[in-house]
Amino acid sequence: MKFTIGWLYPDLMNIYGDRGNILTLLRRAQWRELDASVVELQRGRAKNMDDVDVFFFGGGQDREQALIYEDLREHKQDQLQQAVKNGAQILAVCGGYQLLGHYYQTAEGERYDGIGLIDVTTQAGKKRFIGDVVVQTSIEGLTPSTLVGFENHSGRTFLGPNARPLGKVLTGKGNNGSDKTEGAVQSMGGGIIGTYLHGSLLPKNPHLADHLIGEALRRRGDGALSKLDDSEELAAHGWILQRAQRR
Ligand code: GLN
Repeated sequence: MKFTIGWLYPDLMNIYGDRGNILTLLRRAQWRELDASVVELQRGRAKNMDDVDVFFFGGGQDREQALIYEDLREHKQDQLQQAVKNGAQILAVCGGYQLLGHYYQTAEGERYDGIGLIDVTTQAGKKRFIGDVVVQTSIEGLTPSTLVGFENHSGRTFLGPNARPLGKVLTGKGNNGSDKTEGAVQSMGGGIIGTYLHGSLLPKNPHLADHLIGEALRRRGDGALSKLDDSEELAAHGWILQRAQRR
């Protein structure tokens, strides 16, 4: 069975090791004998996105966000919306997450309109949030129920009524450092996960990687994934948990 990852703006939206998410999705699909491949979705007219199972949209500084937000609206929005309606999944980290919302406004007052796939708005604050993050996730059935990562952002994101938090912040700042929420999840056929967790996220959270792969494949009738030995990945997860608790 084919499994396709669509990597949005790999040349520009890919900071703090975010490409590790692509490698994790690819390998975990290949380890299940799936015919896995990555399609790079650069600026300009989008290639056919219908076959993409999981989209990844990484982080970027304000400068990179300024270079791609118009392209996202002009050349990617409609196909992304349709793909999610047809059951595809999106994982968006930090700058990518912000632009899937209604807008991202920089500390200088520049506003980059997003595509509103996630009901959130973001305004940058003066101080950057930098450090380990531990989240108690609200996604049903994830074991462990924690997600660990690293945040580095000036954006303060607030959820609108149609978005649910990805989880509750146990350590770190998360969406805005005030309401104890981290990330956002929204479903419209498929699922969209926005998060501030770099690290990169998926290598130390294999349970979330499998959630994305399984949910995307479910639309083809078979989201059941064979079990892998995740002892090393979960040891890394546990180490971050302990380090965060020590701080
Ligand atoms: N430029 C955005 C911010 O500072 C996103 C940063 C990122 O992707 N790490 O909030």
